[in-house]
Amino acid sequence: MAGDGAGRVGTVAGTSEGDAGWRERDDATHRAVHGQFLGPWTPTPTGAEEPEAVWCTSRLADDVYWQAGAVHEASHAVVGTAVGLPLLHATLESDRSVRIGGVVSFTGPGDAQLFAVWLAAGAVGQSQWLCAAGYGHPELHRCVRAIGGGADRAEAERLAAQGFIIDLQRAHLDASRLLGDPGLWAAVGQTARLLLTRRHLTSADVVAVLETHRITTQQVWTPDIGPADG
Ligand SMILES: [Zn+2]
Repeated sequence: MAGDGAGRVGTVAGTSEGDAGWRERDDATHRAVHGQFLGPWTPTPTGAEEPEAVWCTSRLADDVYWQAGAVHEASHAVVGTAVGLPLLHATLESDRSVRIGGVVSFTGPGDAQLFAVWLAAGAVGQSQWLCAAGYGHPELHRCVRAIGGGADRAEAERLAAQGFIIDLQRAHLDASRLLGDPGLWAAVGQTARLLLTRRHLTSADVVAVLETHRITTQQVWTPDIGPADG
């Protein structure tokens, strides 16, 4: 599936950005997302609303924010591992003021489309968990995709700009399909709980979780995408 870049060794970081400009970019993103619904974005105190009324990630209570964030990173880690990519580590920060606060890194060689699948899985899993927890406001999910998935999408676009052939829409569908599997979703939940406790997981930690749910990297098949180059 990947073009001449297939098999090239590469490391792709997950969601966090270390630079100082994120706050301005996030504010601009919130204004762009919420302007479509309510006019100018105005941040307000968090945690005081019923779940179904929460329309922006900035309004999530701390515990919900971190659980959803842990599920975001766990979705990256579990999906990437399940499609056969070698995980380096998954981390979760504990300070809400430092952007999203988690990093998942895989290394190659591998199929670039599979990198796109694990990159897409973060925001998909985050939205799926929020919906299950009662946070179903459509504007919130637009905000999750823009804020939680923005750096991941930028990373996939950076790979595409390097010459890798990537179908982002297909990656999103495949991530959704994988996270719709009850066993894989349970593995995401277990990995997220471990992340909330330990804040740092190795590949062995995630593989052990997958094994308790009888998921191996050989079992997950992504249609039309061949095995990773050896
Ligand atoms: Zn927002």
